Amino acid sequence: MRPLGALLDRVLGPAVPPPEWMPAGVTLRRGRLVTAIGGWMGRMGAPAAAVTLRRTIVVDRDVALSPRLLAHELEHVRQWSAVPLFPLRYALESARRGYWNNRFEVEARAAEDAPPQASAPPREP
Ligand SMILES: [Zn+2]
Repeated sequence: MRPLGALLDRVLGPAVPPPEWMPAGVTLRRGRLVTAIGGWMGRMGAPAAAVTLRRTIVVDRDVALSPRLLAHELEHVRQWSAVPLFPLRYALESARRGYWNNRFEVEARAAEDAPPQASAPPREP
């Protein structure tokens, strides 16, 4: 493995195979460090269930992968690409309104109600 890949695996957690309906170019990882930092920054009192960094979704190692969770995080992937200076604006929203009322979180929670597999059902094995 390349040194950078090994470092990313250490810091973000190992990559895992994404569900079939996951958009191409999005990486799924399972870890704890980034979710612990996310939970601390969001004052959650526990690790975040998942944290999205551009096109990488890090799901906490102890949290079950669910279509709703991934739909939430895929909305953050969309925000990263659609909103200029997204990390800065996300941080400002959190500082002003807190985690729950952060408008990017409100949008992501709304996306949970339309999970991706609703339009592309997973195939039977
Ligand atoms: Zn979120």
